[in-house]
Amino acid sequence: MATNRTFTMLKPDAVEKGYIGAILEKISASGFRIVAMKLTQMTTADAQSFYAIHSERPFFADLVEYMTRGPIVAAVLEKENAVDDFRTLIGATNPADAAEGTIRKMYAESISANAVHGSDSDDNAAIEAAFHFSGREQF
Ligand code: UDP
Ligand code: MG
Repeated sequence: MATNRTFTMLKPDAVEKGYIGAILEKISASGFRIVAMKLTQMTTADAQSFYAIHSERPFFADLVEYMTRGPIVAAVLEKENAVDDFRTLIGATNPADAAEGTIRKMYAESISANAVHGSDSDDNAAIEAAFHFSGREQF
């Protein structure tokens, strides 16, 4: 995968609250092109695997429970400097620390239910995109 791509999920809390349209609008207005996208729901095994890096953390079980409780929107996004620019657009993990105007500041409710995922590196963006999408599903 090219290094100008990142992977995102609009998490169950954002979908439940009807924020899909508003968040996608903000992502598009910020210059990201949607390369792949779908509404899907992670199984427990999916979430455990996707977040395996956090498996020893105290919040892991709650994170898996939360990420599987309803549908998510998974998407691959393209833009110059996509990974870093998208992390800037979503803001800090804890919405209380997120900058004004960021997606988490606007739409997240807590450090756990924080509305949106963004890959933290080009390597992880490629791994996470491949977790949810085949090559033929990425345009
Ligand atoms: N998380 C949590 N409690 C914490 C830290 C993280 O519930 O103290 C959840 C939260 O949903 C976060 C996800 O675990 O988005 C992954 O954590 P990470 O540190 O990778 O944050 P992110 O990269 O999403 O900002
Ligand atoms: Mg992370």
